[in-house]
Amino acid sequence: MTDHMIGVVAAGEITVGLVSPVKGCYELAAPVRRYPSSGPERDDPDAGFSAADGLTQEEELESSGVHGMPMEAIAETIAVMIRDLCRDHGATPSGAGIGFPGIIGNGVIEDSPNLKQAKGARLAAMVTDALESLRFPLPVWLFNSADVTAAGLASTRGHLERLIRVWTLGHGVGFGRYPRIEGIWEGGHMVVTLDPKETYCGCGGRGHLEGIMGHRAMRLRFLDLEPDEIFANAQLKDPRCVEFEILWHRALAAATANSIHMDGPGKFYLAGPNSRFVKINLLSQFLHEMVTMSPLQGSVFEVVPMNDAISIIGAAVNAGLAANPGQVAGCGR
Ligand SMILES: [Zn+2]
Repeated sequence: MTDHMIGVVAAGEITVGLVSPVKGCYELAAPVRRYPSSGPERDDPDAGFSAADGLTQEEELESSGVHGMPMEAIAETIAVMIRDLCRDHGATPSGAGIGFPGIIGNGVIEDSPNLKQAKGARLAAMVTDALESLRFPLPVWLFNSADVTAAGLASTRGHLERLIRVWTLGHGVGFGRYPRIEGIWEGGHMVVTLDPKETYCGCGGRGHLEGIMGHRAMRLRFLDLEPDEIFANAQLKDPRCVEFEILWHRALAAATANSIHMDGPGKFYLAGPNSRFVKINLLSQFLHEMVTMSPLQGSVFEVVPMNDAISIIGAAVNAGLAANPGQVAGCGR
């Protein structure tokens, strides 16, 4: 069977899946492989952050996951996982798509703020070479990890004919778009305030969305409170936390409004561990104050629970589209 595709996500940990089209939709054809094998489920909203010690999952994985690995080791690990998965299931896929956080262009990681060793790495070529040396040649494509999340949501929710966007709210803030188009799309670093005191973004830029909404940025802003406590205190009407909860929602509304003014209205999914703090009504109210032109109205927010399969399927869908440009991925649902 050659209509299988491989989907890979390398962010914190490496997950690899065998994906097959079923009536125009895409589904996992085998259980997901994971490295490190004992790693916790990523993107699960309930398991996203360890409350006990206040460490984010990415910080916990720094010594055991991809954060501590040289790029050559990441590429080789991905190649071996792909080869083993295919061998164990007798599959001969037609290609592999890899999702990786950062600015991705032509198979190269141009920058990845949270994975310093990745900058400049030609990861697609490295994995291709590693597969060839395993005598398992396969075309490989590299995508931004939030874009594969968007493609996975489009596929698993039957929206492959529509424009959908996703904000991933975690350690940082990711922005994904489906269908994927060429560009930078670092939506998490969109400027949403001119206040010069807004300096909490991990990239160092002032006034960025991630500097307000990112998990690390929230911990830097409230040195005495964890993000969970900030939002719990806001429920109890603590003035400082209420003020921040409004800022947090206005920042996301502003970034979404900017996207709508550039790219049109549509569906915006909210994913990742910190999407649990979102109050849809508050967010929608702020967005309506910011987007008033009638052709641009009608956008909808939806919080979605995530699992490994969604982004893996998205990586495979994007690889399939890259392999067959011009093909419109239809879904029978
Ligand atoms: Zn930034």
